[in-house]
Amino acid sequence: MAIFLAVDVGGSSIKLGLVSENFELLVEDSFRTQDNQENSDQIVENLTKHSLDLLSKHDYRKEDLKAIGIGVPGTAINRTGIYEFAGNLPFRRYPLRKKLTEIFNCPIYLGNDANFAGLAESRLGAGQGAENSVTLTLGTGMGAGVVINDRVYLGFNEAASEFGHTVMEIDGIPCTCGRNGCFESYVSATALIRQTKEAIAENPDSILAITANAEGKVSGRTSFNAWRNDCPVGTKVVKTYAKYLAIGIANVINSYMPDVVIIGGGISNEGQCLVDLCEDEAIKQSFLHGEVAIPKIVIATLGNKAGTLGAALFADDCLKDGLIY
Ligand SMILES: [Zn+2]
Repeated sequence: MAIFLAVDVGGSSIKLGLVSENFELLVEDSFRTQDNQENSDQIVENLTKHSLDLLSKHDYRKEDLKAIGIGVPGTAINRTGIYEFAGNLPFRRYPLRKKLTEIFNCPIYLGNDANFAGLAESRLGAGQGAENSVTLTLGTGMGAGVVINDRVYLGFNEAASEFGHTVMEIDGIPCTCGRNGCFESYVSATALIRQTKEAIAENPDSILAITANAEGKVSGRTSFNAWRNDCPVGTKVVKTYAKYLAIGIANVINSYMPDVVIIGGGISNEGQCLVDLCEDEAIKQSFLHGEVAIPKIVIATLGNKAGTLGAALFADDCLKDGLIY
């Protein structure tokens, strides 16, 4: 049976999956990139080795591969096969397809990890049945994937959908991208942890501070836990966080008018309460007049499988489009 090898490259680990033609994740594996100690060739050598091991361990040969899909952070261009830029990994203008073609002789397709996660959520996860969706992934940074007419939208340079780097506050918090006041700087897990730490420093006797102490460290959950315990300081952090998220979602709705906005990433583990905190404000601020249908805001359902499933879906789309590089 023909299968896809799907790869989801992250900043600290790389996930691999063998995916059926019906997009079932048959088996998976992951391995750590050694805390940025490796160069790009070593990471790809590891990726190749783990992929071949995964195939043989489950009685597949590389000839069984229909295609390989690889989602990566940063900018990877499917048309050229070049991994142009990765924020936290050592890839710069790296010929990823060419390197992998030395080992694998099936078609190899690459793209941005958040785009692929969005494609998977749209087709197989929380957005099933939606023609148009936007998925926001609230993790270390904030990724976004836009699906239009059931296809992932890539844009010029295949680098579209960087909503994380649209400005919410002129002269706001400096962002890693060089701008100030980016959406990501207010709604990523990193941002929430920063906001929580600031609130603790200002209110060392609060339930929030006690919660952080009991948990041993400040995480993306700390303020939410304090909020659930009626802590006014934690509540303020959560409400402010939710307000920025709501305004950003309204910007997304006004830009694309998707059927559904899907919230994924670590912060989405808060579940429905995260939607409840931001939905009314997001819809109120969206350009929705008359008796029109209201876009849904939902929590992602595929968890950390979205990246690999999306890579396989994208590879299949490319095959169906006859894209052979
Ligand atoms: Zn930015």
